[in-house]
Amino acid sequence: MRVCIFGTGYVGLVTGTCLAEVGHDVVCVDVDAAKVEGLNNGIVPIYEPGLTPMVKANHAAGRLRFTTDAGAGIAHGDVLFIAVGTPPDEDGSADLQYVREVARTIGRHIERPVVVVDKSTVPVGTADKVRATIDAELTARGAGIDFEVVSNPEFLKEGAAVEDCMRPDRIVIGTSSASALETLRRLYAPFNRNHERIVAMDVRSAELTKYAANAMLATKISFMNEIANIAEQVGADVEMVRKGIGSDPRIGWHFIYPGAGYGGSCFPKDVQALARTAAQHGVQPRLLEAVEAVNAAQKGHLFELMQRHYDLGEDEGLRGKTIAVWGLAFKPNTDDMREASSRRLLQQLWDAGASVRAFDPEALAETRRIYGEREHLVLCGSAADAVEGADALAVVTEWKQFRSPDFAMLKEALADAVLFDGRNLYEPVEVEAAGIAYYGIGRGRSL
Ligand code: NAD
Repeated sequence: MRVCIFGTGYVGLVTGTCLAEVGHDVVCVDVDAAKVEGLNNGIVPIYEPGLTPMVKANHAAGRLRFTTDAGAGIAHGDVLFIAVGTPPDEDGSADLQYVREVARTIGRHIERPVVVVDKSTVPVGTADKVRATIDAELTARGAGIDFEVVSNPEFLKEGAAVEDCMRPDRIVIGTSSASALETLRRLYAPFNRNHERIVAMDVRSAELTKYAANAMLATKISFMNEIANIAEQVGADVEMVRKGIGSDPRIGWHFIYPGAGYGGSCFPKDVQALARTAAQHGVQPRLLEAVEAVNAAQKGHLFELMQRHYDLGEDEGLRGKTIAVWGLAFKPNTDDMREASSRRLLQQLWDAGASVRAFDPEALAETRRIYGEREHLVLCGSAADAVEGADALAVVTEWKQFRSPDFAMLKEALADAVLFDGRNLYEPVEVEAAGIAYYGIGRGRSL
């Protein structure tokens, strides 16, 4: 099938590539000319496991093309995907300016019936707005062309996006049009072979489904972080509690890891946007507000532990200290640092007069892009390099390569021999046996 995708970010690029991989003919449109030029030369601007070879292979095969020419993309596609960003507006609601712009562009250029598919995460009612925007452009042109607007939210996870896209656990399609549903069934047939993954529903339910999924996951994280904070105070170890509750199939093992707070481009903004939607419709989003408040506080927790440690000693707090930071991306296997907990920690350390030696396996270029050359930040080429000459170590992202460090080497390297484990990667007794003071999340122990 002939597909056009607007937006070549995490969602658009991965979706376009996976659709090309199964044989569809895909044109990706982006307004970022540098990105498009790079992609046409095999340069993939994001880190996502498995993506680069797939982009190159499908581009070489002629099934995946990149352009800034929206008209050409629309002329190509029978199915037009909207996969542009929906960042938070000032009041927390989703900013729909990019979605609206794509809708206007579609309205200006379509010449034959198409199915417009909204893949961006958008508030309930957006499909109606997209339809009205396209209609207004068609009316202005004096053109009468049939089109459908379908909601098809995306559930891929950064860090496993290609895998998620190739083997989705569900494909939500929101439409009241039987023919649009049929078109999407044909499009997704290669991903829907062994068992039925398509969940068809009305447009508004589909739009809400995406927010409900992310809000549920964020709720699990904030819940566990609250339990961790209680554990810390009452002398219990939240890791034991996690094991104790995860074995209950009604609770499950997923998303009950306490840590330094959730970040990324989705959970923070989607929880906020859903809370805004609720408030706009007269529903007080008590739980969502709490989820967000817990997370905002949790992002500062690692720093509080540092303050606690350094205030207890005879040091003058953190001023003049050098802290090694392992992990800058908001989670492992990505270079994405949007709303990452590391950013809060870095700022807090700088505000307290400390310096940072940081390492991340994939996010160093992104860190450089965000902060540029600045005082009190040294980006290091390895985890070992980061701890060289540092006073303490903070682990912020749970990359696999951080899981089994040489604690004897750490003891040698860290002047103050203290480790702040923002993801509970280590066993406190093992770290302490090496002569390093250990702070984790919710690891109160009544020894
Ligand atoms: P992104 O910021 O990585 O990419 C958006 C792209 O859209 C950019 O390349 C931008 O240049 C382009 N763009 C902006 N205006 C355009 C226009 N008028 N025409 C063509 N291209 C345009 O965004 P993302 O992370 O891919 O997210 C896209 C949407 O998918 C958001 O609504 C997000 O909430 C949702 N989503 C994201 C994820 C994720 O893990 N990143 C997962 C599921 C859903």
